[in-house]
Amino acid sequence: MARMPGATYRSVVNVHRDGVLERRGLVLHVQDDTGSPYGWFNTPSSRASSDFWVRLDGRIEQYCETGVDYAWAQGAGNPYYASVETEGHPDTPLTPEQVEAVAHIYAWGHSQFGWPLAVVNSATAHGFTYHGVGAAAWGNHTGCPGDVRKAQRTAILARASAILGLSTKVSVSLAHVVDAARRDPAAAQGHTTHRAEALVVEQALGAEGVLSPQWIDGSFGSRTVTAYAALQRRYGYTGDDADGIPGHSSLSRLGAAHGFTVTA
Ligand SMILES: [Zn+2]
Repeated sequence: MARMPGATYRSVVNVHRDGVLERRGLVLHVQDDTGSPYGWFNTPSSRASSDFWVRLDGRIEQYCETGVDYAWAQGAGNPYYASVETEGHPDTPLTPEQVEAVAHIYAWGHSQFGWPLAVVNSATAHGFTYHGVGAAAWGNHTGCPGDVRKAQRTAILARASAILGLSTKVSVSLAHVVDAARRDPAAAQGHTTHRAEALVVEQALGAEGVLSPQWIDGSFGSRTVTAYAALQRRYGYTGDDADGIPGHSSLSRLGAAHGFTVTA
């Protein structure tokens, strides 16, 4: 089954029939425009298309037989990955409705093709990747979909996991994160105390727009502490309560927005 239930199927001319070589996963794109790209994708001279397009309100259009035909979205990556275009612009986050819709696309691809529920920043690894990582071979769209939307992939996969009823919900230990926030800043640059859990928190801080992607590295260093303090102030904390060391209520609130739970 190559057509996704719930998506509006609109066949376009710009696809390579029976061209798929591997079904490694999904590539996230940003349209950097609004309105359905159907007409553009159905115009031979545009040389462009995608498997899916997700409107701001969460409606999904599908333009080819995913997993069988490949769309023309990411150059040399086309025969290996499906593609989703998202309405809007790189500097604005996906709407909650878009997050939900892309999660449904990913959950469907997981069931149909075994796409792993993993964020990958790679042009070869299996999972949920993004256009810019393919560099010149993928058309040199290094700004697609932009740092804000790239960082939302973690929350999308957490939601896809929940849709699938899997018990792979991400959880983070408050004690571990506090330990990392106390030890990493004074240690050597890039030192990691609880790498996996720090990374989950940093990805959420990135999606909130308070931490630059270059510091999302699993080390809860001084930049991450500063970013967390900015989040605490945004949540209304002041003084010592906004010192950048996570507390249970702020971390739980961040987790609720970005797909992780908090344990002691
Ligand atoms: Zn793109």
